[in-house]
Amino acid sequence: METIVVAEDDPSSRELVCEILEAQGYHVVAACNGREALDQIEKIAPDLLVMDIQMPLIGGLVAIERIRQDARFAKLRVLAVTAHAMAGDRERILSSGFDGYVSKPIDAVIFKKSVRDLLQARIPLRN
Ligand SMILES: [Mg+2]
Repeated sequence: METIVVAEDDPSSRELVCEILEAQGYHVVAACNGREALDQIEKIAPDLLVMDIQMPLIGGLVAIERIRQDARFAKLRVLAVTAHAMAGDRERILSSGFDGYVSKPIDAVIFKKSVRDLLQARIPLRN
């Protein structure tokens, strides 16, 4: 079973994302901010990290920078889920080291496909 860490500070968004993924049969571990996300990926080495951008303590952009500087996480795929929708945000997020991007409000069909695509990619898209 593939393990996914979901990092999202908004409780209802976190619950929604976790429920969608659990219904797909994934083992899901929730994190409430970027610091918890970094702790969890170190502890459980998930197959995928689904991460919000705006979070307290450590935001998604700082967290992804740390992840990409750490060789232990070289194979970790990271999907951004964010309300950022301004022109250029998608490019900024992808160039910061995320492997994919899904915007809020979450479309369950698009989200599930993005997760599946990233998990099935034999080579991380980023490299
Ligand atoms: Mg947030």
